[in-house]
Amino acid sequence: MSNTSSEFIPFTRPSFNQETIDAVSEILRSGWVTSGPKLAEFESTLSKYFGDRPVRCFANGTATMKIALQVAGIGAGDEVITTPISWVATSNVILSVGAKPIFVDIDPVTRNIDLNKVSAAITPKTRAIMPVYLAGLPVDMDQLYALAEQYKLRVIEDAAQAFGSQWKGKKIGSFGDLISFSFQANKNLTTVEGGCLVLNNADEAKLAEKFRLQGLTRQGIDGMDVDVLGGKDNLTDVNAAIGLEQLKQLPSYQARRTNLARQYFDVMRNKLKAAGLVGLKLELPVENFTDSNWHMFQVVLPLEQLNADRAQIMADLKEIGIGTGVHYPAISGFTLYKNQGYKTSDTPIAERIGKSILTLPLFPAMADEDIGRIARGLVGILVKYTKN
Ligand SMILES: *Cc1c(COP(=O)(O)O)cnc(C)c1O
Repeated sequence: MSNTSSEFIPFTRPSFNQETIDAVSEILRSGWVTSGPKLAEFESTLSKYFGDRPVRCFANGTATMKIALQVAGIGAGDEVITTPISWVATSNVILSVGAKPIFVDIDPVTRNIDLNKVSAAITPKTRAIMPVYLAGLPVDMDQLYALAEQYKLRVIEDAAQAFGSQWKGKKIGSFGDLISFSFQANKNLTTVEGGCLVLNNADEAKLAEKFRLQGLTRQGIDGMDVDVLGGKDNLTDVNAAIGLEQLKQLPSYQARRTNLARQYFDVMRNKLKAAGLVGLKLELPVENFTDSNWHMFQVVLPLEQLNADRAQIMADLKEIGIGTGVHYPAISGFTLYKNQGYKTSDTPIAERIGKSILTLPLFPAMADEDIGRIARGLVGILVKYTKN
């Protein structure tokens, strides 16, 4: 599938092949459409993928993270250290279990939580750290787990964007404490909506199963009991069938994303140079082709060098058929959080990057020519707005 020069390029688009469509049809015809045998197959396939660790699936990544916190026993009075640059779900789930998010500033290069600043945020109430792997780039996992060990903290990894990412040759999710993934439509592996949690043992898996279905346990043929408050967060067989097909496609999707990211670096640098914009401080992502799954390709705009704000640049790009996204403004600036006393100025790097980060299109079905068109378009707009 290629885009001609006039076609709109969205910032992302999921790919589904004919086998996936057939697999969904089969479930719809089977007479059992909600959680059942396909879900069990998807969970056991994921478990193998993550080195035989227990895996349970949920209706979405948000429910997955909330249940991870519940499994870890985190609730009222507890503090959870996290990053302000994430989808708001990350800190919303901390609030939803009655705990308090503590925002630590980010590293401007990786755009992930700055682990060197975590120690200063630890209090007697700190129970967990919840890092986010923005655009699929993991944090320093050795440093993360050394901190957890030192301060006796649980780690709930918000790996929503990091399915297929690695650390020192090991898959994210194949090691560590509780690892949460999202299968939302924009993610590298999608079930349309969905998520999965990698757990430590069978007891945690049982507890996660209870939390995802009303707190229910069954006994014998007709017995049931409820001993904790659970929700309705199960994943259906329709979603599981999509996930199983997506897993087969993942290596080719991954190779394509990495190839497109490599092209972005080359083409962007060439176009900036050709336009004489070598002094422009446009920040590109970390050039990591081993660990990152290239969930997104994000630039940070040098707004102080431009006579335009981000919205203007996004509008101009849209005008020439290029879709972009914002992932993300600092969470602490949202009204819900401001009303609880949070201030973006407490995390100045996150505040700046949240205002100037821009997601460019990156998805497996993109054509090579699209990269040239996007880079040309963006650089042309930057030329137009560069101060004298
Ligand atoms: C997508 C995402 C989530 C939430 O996942 P949903 O499946 O949309 O509920 C959480 N955190 C991050 C960083 C995400 O990108």
